[in-house]
Amino acid sequence: MAYVVTDACTKDFVCVAECSTAAIAPVATDAAAGTVSQVFINPDECIDCGNCADLCAQNAIFPIDELPADKAEFAAKNAAYFN
Ligand code: SF4
Repeated sequence: MAYVVTDACTKDFVCVAECSTAAIAPVATDAAAGTVSQVFINPDECIDCGNCADLCAQNAIFPIDELPADKAEFAAKNAAYFN
């Protein structure tokens, strides 16, 4: 299982800085930070701690099994960023 970032993300990078496994990308200093519309969680590196979801002021992050139906596509979109 992993957490998933959805399009409610405003790229404040709070979660990126706080993730203990560096599962969230891009970081604010990456060149890619200016070109993506949101950040993404690597499902292979996420350990399901939930810290990012608790910190997100936009409530943009969900456990994959609690994704709203209209956000289901973001599970694949998050994983695809790292492929
Ligand atoms: S749930 Fe924890 S490990 Fe997974 S992306 Fe969020 S902060 Fe990182």
